[in-house]
Order: sequence, then structure tokens, then C-alpha cells
Amino acid sequence: MEILNFDKENDYIKKVSEINKNRNLKYYILTMGCMLNENDSEKLCGMIEKMGYTKVSEAQKADLIVFNTCCVRENAEDKLFGNLGELKTYKRETGAIIALGGCMMQEKHIQEKLKVSYPYFDIIFGTHTLNKFPEDLFTILSKKEKVTDVIDIDGDIYEGIPIKRESSVKASVTIMYGCNNFCSYCIVPYVRGRERSRKHEDILKEITKLAKDGYKEITLLGQNVNSYDGGSGYKFSNLLNDVSKIEGIERIRFISPHPKDFTGDVIDAIKQNPKICKILHLPLQSGSSNILNKMNRKYTKNDYLTLAKKIKEKIPEVVFSTDIIVGFPGETEEDFNETLDVVNQIKFEQVFMFIYSRRVGTPADKMENQVPEEIKHERFNRLKALVESQVPENNKKYLGTTQKVLVEGESKNNKEMLTRKNRNK
Ligand code: SF4
Repeated sequence: MEILNFDKENDYIKKVSEINKNRNLKYYILTMGCMLNENDSEKLCGMIEKMGYTKVSEAQKADLIVFNTCCVRENAEDKLFGNLGELKTYKRETGAIIALGGCMMQEKHIQEKLKVSYPYFDIIFGTHTLNKFPEDLFTILSKKEKVTDVIDIDGDIYEGIPIKRESSVKASVTIMYGCNNFCSYCIVPYVRGRERSRKHEDILKEITKLAKDGYKEITLLGQNVNSYDGGSGYKFSNLLNDVSKIEGIERIRFISPHPKDFTGDVIDAIKQNPKICKILHLPLQSGSSNILNKMNRKYTKNDYLTLAKKIKEKIPEVVFSTDIIVGFPGETEEDFNETLDVVNQIKFEQVFMFIYSRRVGTPADKMENQVPEEIKHERFNRLKALVESQVPENNKKYLGTTQKVLVEGESKNNKEMLTRKNRNK
């Protein structure tokens, strides 16, 4: 793996902007999936705006339409194909460029389906070739040739990609790419490759610049942040300590750590640095050791509870959020009750709940004893009811307190309201 600069692509940005000069072009982007994908989309927006396009919020008003896809859940596929179907006539009438990128494009069966059923796309790019988007766009604009730019091998890390951030107060910074864990339900290691960490000097430089630009909150991103390896023994805890020293940054969050890698030095760094928010995302996935083993999570229910207890003893003000998958293959009523038991014990501040969906190419897809849909939904509803029943009790600790909040902007639902977060949300 090499750390490369963006000079070659900057040349393509210049070439495309020359072609687009004085054309008042518009682009639309739809982002599916996680915060890592959102961060990738901010990079795409940064490149696209430098090439002469202005963002619009409707695909059918755009000259360039980009779908940055995710393949973690099945419904994302339905969403992509539904959107593409709706664009068929618009594409024929206007000649708009349709570009499809992200995790889903790394999957061979998706590429085949697109070629057969939705052949009017112009560019397919994968997770390892996002940085080449200006070159791909140049090819379609100058030669009118369709481009499929997907590679299977792990990508290099590019520094210096332009970025157009959604917010002016909080920013996500990707610190590492890929994942080595191969949880049996997860497609990420197959589509995003093995773990590659950015150099800590580059990360700190980016965050220092963000602080100078007025950003107050930073979220460090990676599929497995606590296995960050900055080289020469520089670990995730070192990064947390160094980011905390950057003047102007007031809050630091990170997502996602893996419970198996949550080491004492990381707990100490969280305790010692008041800027690090004391809500920790600790993905549980299941409370049953039997299911955790089948998931290849490499910890048991007891390991998880012991870790949470250890963190809470060292940092009493800490609260937890988590991810839970309901209905993993072979999950029995007893297994599910173990999950409810952990929820009852920890009383998570936030729970991101998912109904297990089969992903082609993962070991779990081939497992026997897939749980029937109605049982998955029934368990999901029971989990949801339990989590909701804990909200009043969880919120009681804030009664009569004064909380410092970071105002993030107008509420999406009511323009007269502002949205904000305290340190525990
Ligand atoms: S840790 Fe597991 S769930 Fe998370 S990205 Fe890696 S393989 Fe997927």
C-alpha cells in the first residue's frame, strides 16, 4: 500500500473544468449507508464542484447524477435499482451522465445486473478508485466511452483529495480504510479490502486545518478504529491524545471500535481527555455467546459485559450506544433473550437495531437455520419496545442539569428550530 498525492487527478480536474467552462452544469448525489460513505461523498462533491458543477437536490434537474452506494443491507439494492428505473426516460431525453460508485459496485453480480437490466449508466467506479473519478468523467466527456473502473485489490491511500463538507461545525475524518475482521454476516472486508491506516501526520494536519476553519467537533472514522496503526508503535490511543491537543477542537468522537480491540490505553486516553465525548459506541451485535461465535465476533457475552463494566469503573460518566442484529441464522428464543438481557443490564443511550439480511458472498448467507421473516420482525419489535421503555429512565439523569450543546443548524423537520447535541448524544 502506498500513500499517494492527488496531482495526476488534479490535472484531470483542470481538463474537465475546461470542457465544462461557462456551461452552468448541475449535479445530484445520493449517498447510501454509513458515515464512511458520507465522507466519501464529501470527497466526490469536492472533486465535482471543482470541475464546474453546482449541487441540486433533484436528480431530474442534474447533468451529472451520482449514486454512492452501500451493500451492507439488502434494501439499498432495491433503492438503487428503483432510482435507476425512474431515470431511464430522463437519461434518454437529456443525455445526463449517470455515475454509480461505492461498495455495491465492488460486487460482480451487481455489475452484471446493471449491464443487463440498466445499461444506460455511464460510469461504474468502486471503493478503491473513487480518487480517479475526475479521470473517469474526462473519459466519458471527451471520448463518449462507458467506463467501468473497479479493482479488487486494496487501494492506495490518496492524500489531498478536495472535500466539500456538509457541515461548518462538525467534520468526519477517515483515519483508516478496510477491515480484517471478517464477521460472518458482513460484506465490508470483501468490498473495502484489508485495513490500511493513514499516516498520523496527515490526519493531524487535516484536523488542524479544520480547527483553523472553525470546526468544533471531529469524528474519527474507520471500520475498526481501535486497530488503527500509524506505524512505529503509534496507536489509536496516541492519535486520541494528539487530536485532543489541537486548539479549537472542542469535541472528539470516533466510530466504530471493535469490543475485542478496546485496550486499556484507549480507555485511559478517553478518561484523560475531556474533549473526547463520553458516549462510546460499542457494537454488541448479539448478547448470545453462541451467536457471537457464529458471527465470528471473537468475544463472548461475558467479555462484552466485563469490558463495559471496566470502562464504567474508570469513567463513571460514560454512556454507551450500540448496534444489534436481530434474527442472525440459528438465533433461538434463548439466544434472543440473552440480547435482551444485555440491553437490560447496560441501558444503552442509543441502540441502532437491524434485522439480519443475507448478503451474497458472506459465510452467514450459506448458514442453515435462517430465521423466518415473521420471527425476525417480531423479535425486532420486542427489542425496540424494550429500548424505548428505557428512554425515560436514561433521560432522568439530565433533569435539573445544564448541558453544553453544539448547535448543528436548522432542524430538518422545522426550520424555526435548531438541532443540537450534548456530549452524550
Ligand atoms: S468489524 Fe465486522 S462488522 Fe465491522 S466492518 Fe469489519 S467485518 Fe464488518
